[in-house]
Amino acid sequence: MRALTRRELGKGALGVWLAPFAPAATAGVPAATSAISAKQWRDDFPVLKQQVNGQPLAYLDSAATTQRPTAVIQALVDYYSRDNANPSGTLHTLARRAYERYEEARAAVAAFIHAKDAQEVVWTRGTTEAINLVASAWGQGELRPGDEILLTIAEHSSNLLPWRLLAERTGAVVRFVGVDDDGRIDLADLDAKLSSRTRLFAFGHVSNVAGYLNPAAEICARARRTGALVLIDAAQSVPHVPLDVQALDCDFVAFSSHKMLGPMGVGVLWARAPLLERMRPYQAGSNMAHEVDIGSCTLETGARKFGAGTPNVSGPVGLAAAIRYVESIGRGAIEEHEARITRHALSRLTDIPGLRLFGPREPEHRLPVFSFSITGHAPLDVVRHLDARGIAVRAGDLSALPLLKRFGATAAVRASCYCYTQTEEIDRLAHGLRELVEETHA
Ligand code: PMP
Repeated sequence: MRALTRRELGKGALGVWLAPFAPAATAGVPAATSAISAKQWRDDFPVLKQQVNGQPLAYLDSAATTQRPTAVIQALVDYYSRDNANPSGTLHTLARRAYERYEEARAAVAAFIHAKDAQEVVWTRGTTEAINLVASAWGQGELRPGDEILLTIAEHSSNLLPWRLLAERTGAVVRFVGVDDDGRIDLADLDAKLSSRTRLFAFGHVSNVAGYLNPAAEICARARRTGALVLIDAAQSVPHVPLDVQALDCDFVAFSSHKMLGPMGVGVLWARAPLLERMRPYQAGSNMAHEVDIGSCTLETGARKFGAGTPNVSGPVGLAAAIRYVESIGRGAIEEHEARITRHALSRLTDIPGLRLFGPREPEHRLPVFSFSITGHAPLDVVRHLDARGIAVRAGDLSALPLLKRFGATAAVRASCYCYTQTEEIDRLAHGLRELVEETHA
């Protein structure tokens, strides 16, 4: 029997579950090479070569933002050194080049997520703006008092507050699906709360706290049965696992470039073309309409309707370079490396005395995001202790207080990884945490 390709694995419920955990050979990458490759990839990131507080930097804050490889930095330099102009498809050479770079980037994103048409890819400032765009441009025109927006309690505040605001403005009601003790969406509760009143179910593909990869295809299918639209907050998944918007049968997908090696200040809303056609403009101004007169105008169609004003061209150009970089090292190779890092981190962290890991302890369906608390140590103190040793982690409510409360906490420390993370850095993290715990008991 022919082995399934990664693209095929990305299709359907089983594929979406299995894709990140498929043996590396499926993706054409021999497992033995991955440790060597990961060391080479790390060399591509200039920022990682420095010492911080007298120690080599161990950057374990990639869920907040990733670092950029030279290829992305160079793409920005090249764009500004050669092609920069206010983009236009019909004017002078530089304006045409800027336009081409901008539209090529849109096509690159469309291919990356398997969109039917590049005009389904709307540029935003990031995931947050993408979700606000849907809440405003779709929700304000569509929702009536009593309509329901369904979320989960695991949502990042960027996938919670826009819906609360929309509910205030329209009289719609926001309801919440629960999660299990490890932060997995409770599918029975989802079924119980979905009804003909549910107009939209918006959920995080991967929680930025628990690191669990929710079974998106299955979730979308359940929501579809009641006629609800589905929005996937893919901020924490698109950087790590293939996402095929057509196979998932969803309606909106939001993600940020800066979490996948691209520049800050640019993100993506993907939406089905017919939905984009129905949605009102998010902002108005130049470029989103033509024949603009004092009393009339003709709106652009597709993604262009949502591109008011002079666009951020370098952002998409940088994101396209990030996609090329990811594809050049191989998505399968990254997944295989991250699965190794995940197994390593789970084994090193879970036996530290007093450390409580949030999210599943099993490596299956898990991405390399590790949130935890340590008895007797405030999360900020843990950050400072590690920072003094050159180790960068994040702490706080991680913009997901309802989920932390579900875990019985109000703050956590989070270590998060990407393709450049080395197992040695996880060892340094574990060592630093052990030191902290042992200092207290000495
Ligand atoms: N959703 C999730 C799950 C996130 O992790 C983040 C960023 N931490 C966001 C949304 C918001 O992304 P951005 O700040 O890039 O808009």
